[in-house]
Amino acid sequence: ECIVFNKFFNRIIDRFEMSKSQNVTFTRLIPEESYYVDVDTDKLTQVIDNIISNALKYSPDGGNIRFGMTVQDTMLKVMVSDDGMGIPKENVERIFDRFYRVDRARARSMGGTGLGLAIARDMIEAHGGKIWAESEEGQGTTIFFTLPYETQIFEDGDWV
Ligand code: ATP
Ligand code: MG
Repeated sequence: ECIVFNKFFNRIIDRFEMSKSQNVTFTRLIPEESYYVDVDTDKLTQVIDNIISNALKYSPDGGNIRFGMTVQDTMLKVMVSDDGMGIPKENVERIFDRFYRVDRARARSMGGTGLGLAIARDMIEAHGGKIWAESEEGQGTTIFFTLPYETQIFEDGDWV
């Protein structure tokens, strides 16, 4: 299904922004111009929901979550950045493993299964993108993913 990624992303962020109970602010850097992606929207919703839920889970009171989207060559690059507790360097790559959780004790109290980011990696890679994390302990975490965008879209019976 072909969707305007910017609108889709903004709607998901809106939903979290309206329902959040924490004292966390959101900042967006998302271009106005439409960029189309051809994806399974249910799966992409699940991926983005998990990334934002994680960011909220680990955000401190008064924290800020930044949402960004940039265009690089043939790909859209999306980022979600928090200023939470971060992840130790040696564990950053493992957060995409099935059932992996950085700190068992902490993770148990937070709920969840440790599958969210493993599912995200499968989905993004199946769509020709990549997903990775950058994190600094005590500073915060940024999750990035890329997705190829459509340069030609079929609209009202024609390729435009
Ligand atoms: P689930 O998503 O299945 O409910 P989960 O959130 O624990 O459970 P993932 O989303 O796969 O699982 O994340 C794996 C682990 O990576 C988390 O348990 C946490 O330890 C770490 N992690 C993920 N996102 C962040 C973040 N923004 N800040 C700090 N740690 C994170
Ligand atoms: Mg999760």
